[in-house]
Amino acid sequence: MLMYNGSILIYTKEAAEAQNRYFGWGDDKPRPENLVEQGGWILGFLDTACPHPVRALATRFLPATGCKGSPAYLEWPAEENIRLQREYYRIRDEEVPAEKRGSFKILGWVHSHPGPLGVFISGTDHENILLHFNDHNKFSVVLNPQRKIIRAFLGPEHPEVPLIMELPIRADRMERKAGERAVAALTASERKKNRRQRARRRRKRFERRRRRGRR
Ligand SMILES: [Zn+2]
Repeated sequence: MLMYNGSILIYTKEAAEAQNRYFGWGDDKPRPENLVEQGGWILGFLDTACPHPVRALATRFLPATGCKGSPAYLEWPAEENIRLQREYYRIRDEEVPAEKRGSFKILGWVHSHPGPLGVFISGTDHENILLHFNDHNKFSVVLNPQRKIIRAFLGPEHPEVPLIMELPIRADRMERKAGERAVAALTASERKKNRRQRARRRRKRFERRRRRGRR
């Protein structure tokens, strides 16, 4: 159940594209790599001004290439977490402007439930959250690249929260603009038609009055 209390996870176009590429989101041909579970971390900016609701902007996706996946299980070794952690510090110190470093965080983890599987927090996922992401502001994103379902869950109790990617938002905006243009064009032609009708009525009224005056 989607619980909207104001918390939200937004992906930049770049982070969304990197994640989609790694998981083979919506690929036409099934690939052996994404028919097993895969995972990664998301990094980005946390609105640290207030702890509730949790608002985050994911700007980077880090693939957990050192994990071994099977169709229904993901083996995630401790060394892989250490590697990802190092990568996080490197990106923060080398790529994030100094004044923004304080709010650049590890936002959470992402993993896939491939093939026919649904997208939810399993018992194993719950244990993983308690072990590694036991924090009210860490996200757990679960996706199925073949069925094209993606959901975000928040914190150790993991209620579902809205997840927005800048890709669809942008397309949505474009559609909305096109829609607005179409509506504007329609009202313009409608106005022109109305103007013509009013002019015709005025002419008729004038004609009638003139005829009456003659009588
Ligand atoms: Zn899972």
